[in-house]
Amino acid sequence: MEREALRQELAAITADATKWVQQRRVLGEAKVWLERPLPPGRGEEPSTATPPPELSLPAESAPNANPQPPWAPSLEAFYVQVRGCRRCGLAAKRQHLVFGEGDPRARLAFVGEAPGADEDAQGRPFVGAAGQLLDKIIIGMGLRRSQVYICNLIKCRPPFNRDPEEAEVAACRPYLEQQLALLKPRVIVALGRHAAQALTGSGEGIGKLRGQDLQWQGALLVPTYHPSALLRDERLKRPVWEDMKRVLKALEAAQP
Ligand code: SF4
Repeated sequence: MEREALRQELAAITADATKWVQQRRVLGEAKVWLERPLPPGRGEEPSTATPPPELSLPAESAPNANPQPPWAPSLEAFYVQVRGCRRCGLAAKRQHLVFGEGDPRARLAFVGEAPGADEDAQGRPFVGAAGQLLDKIIIGMGLRRSQVYICNLIKCRPPFNRDPEEAEVAACRPYLEQQLALLKPRVIVALGRHAAQALTGSGEGIGKLRGQDLQWQGALLVPTYHPSALLRDERLKRPVWEDMKRVLKALEAAQP
């Protein structure tokens, strides 16, 4: 009986390990997975206030209030190039410009709308209640936050979390486009109407945009509901999960 229990436990561990390796392969990391530690807490990422390495600043670079192309050739250098941006009125009241974070080789990118109060205070995207729900969605996909890239359409917090204005989107969208051009993800998930409209150029609502076969510069573009909408309406969880299944399928099909 004891031997049977041990056999079952070993089978469960083997199944977990196999699933984990398959997930890393989906992310194109088959060659490096043995060099990295196993995820703690069954894949949950420990929370940390430490900025990711890409946010470390070379001391010698002076902030530029109106950055212009040519853009820097890496995410880290691009952040340094735009970190002093004051192109629109949102710069006046921000605590932090929230550039984005994650794996610079990520094959999956999440693009939200704009930082909220928690993000503005910490300088990191999706760290408030909606961010915690996004973390759960990522974990539900069998991934970890550090394996994807997360950013927003607008890099500075609109007051009282109001919708971004057209001029603010126009001023900030080139930064998102350059981030994605540098990242070259296989799949981009646009979270909510503003990100979806900016990346599709459409004026349709998110309910109409989701489920369509869309592309952004060669990447599959998957518009879905913003996590904050899910916090208000639990019924949206099912369609979001359907969208995430499409994402996983596309990542699997795009294995190198
Ligand atoms: S929202 Fe974008 S364009 Fe406006 S100040 Fe911030 S980084 Fe610059």
